[in-house]
Amino acid sequence: MKKRILTGDRPTGQLHLGHYVGSLKNRVELQNKHEQFVMIADAQALTDNYDHPEKVRSNIMEVLLDYLAIGIDPSKSTIFIQSQVPQLFELTFYLLNMVTYNRLKHNPTVKAEMQQKGMEDTVTAGFMIYPVSQAADITLFSAELVPVGADQAPILEQTNEIVRRFNSVYHTDVLKEAQPLFSDCPRLVGPDGKAKMSKSLGNAITFSASFKEIEETVKKMYTDPEHLRVQDPGKIEGNVVFMYLDAFDPDKIRVQELKEHYQRGGLGDMTIKRHLMQVLEELIGPIRERRHQFKQQTSMVVDVLHEGTLNAKKEGARKLDEIKEAMKISYRLQNLTPFFSV
Ligand code: ATP
Ligand code: MG
Repeated sequence: MKKRILTGDRPTGQLHLGHYVGSLKNRVELQNKHEQFVMIADAQALTDNYDHPEKVRSNIMEVLLDYLAIGIDPSKSTIFIQSQVPQLFELTFYLLNMVTYNRLKHNPTVKAEMQQKGMEDTVTAGFMIYPVSQAADITLFSAELVPVGADQAPILEQTNEIVRRFNSVYHTDVLKEAQPLFSDCPRLVGPDGKAKMSKSLGNAITFSASFKEIEETVKKMYTDPEHLRVQDPGKIEGNVVFMYLDAFDPDKIRVQELKEHYQRGGLGDMTIKRHLMQVLEELIGPIRERRHQFKQQTSMVVDVLHEGTLNAKKEGARKLDEIKEAMKISYRLQNLTPFFSV
């Protein structure tokens, strides 16, 4: 059965391999079976980049180019800009009543991000409530499936709490609960061994990375610090090169053989790194090329975003009417008499 999907990314930089294995790969397949809305979350990106609006604005195009190059097909998926769908912000305001301030403060994703971004004492109200804005994104599009990385699990949980609360308060079923859809690699570690590959951590391999850049990043990758001589047995656990081979090498049997050889001894770090460089180039090379071609066709690319956004706005307006109906606040300036006559 066809399901509705909502997914998206913050335009805070180009997309990277973490996005690819965490959710983009899934989206390319899902668009064939389901109805998919892909949102460029510029308003959410502003919650921690409000003082750099030009950074967010310029990255909208970068993310769009990444989508198209990876194979998100605008004839199958609706790609749109969050800030251009005003109904999202109206719904956010209503949903804020469905969650306590205390619950917001204890969202583990928000807590971890505040710590990572050093904003414990300076966090804005806008950043604190971004999970509620995400609940609005998901519910305004009646999404049932949300392909995301593991860091988003608590946000989906909170969305569903909000949905249940809303439906119970207003005696309705107008909002739908959503399921996260995780890939087989829901969190790609950074090449430096850090918790995850991330735009903000500056450890990302993007889709316009040249082979030289791929080489440089892989060369520095963390392996087994005790694997000093080629003939020594090496460790797989915590070895970033093998984590990346697990995530990106399509030949699983070959990966298994390499792992066994490495553990036995006799396989040098540089040999597995060379192999990984090749594997990554085979994935990124064609995407890099398509990205370059789309970059030459600006007006076609902008049209895609324009059409997608119009489509999303229409859907947003329709759903918000339904939601306000359920809340018994669907009065309009043109038609106030029946609501306010005494
Ligand atoms: P920022 O640092 O600005 O938050 P980001 O690199 O975390 O950027 P987002 O736009 O926040 O990227 O994330 C978009 C989607 O990609 C989310 O579903 C997120 O879970 C997923 N994602 C991001 N990084 C990774 C990763 N390293 N592994 C798996 N999934 C990831
Ligand atoms: Mg993020």
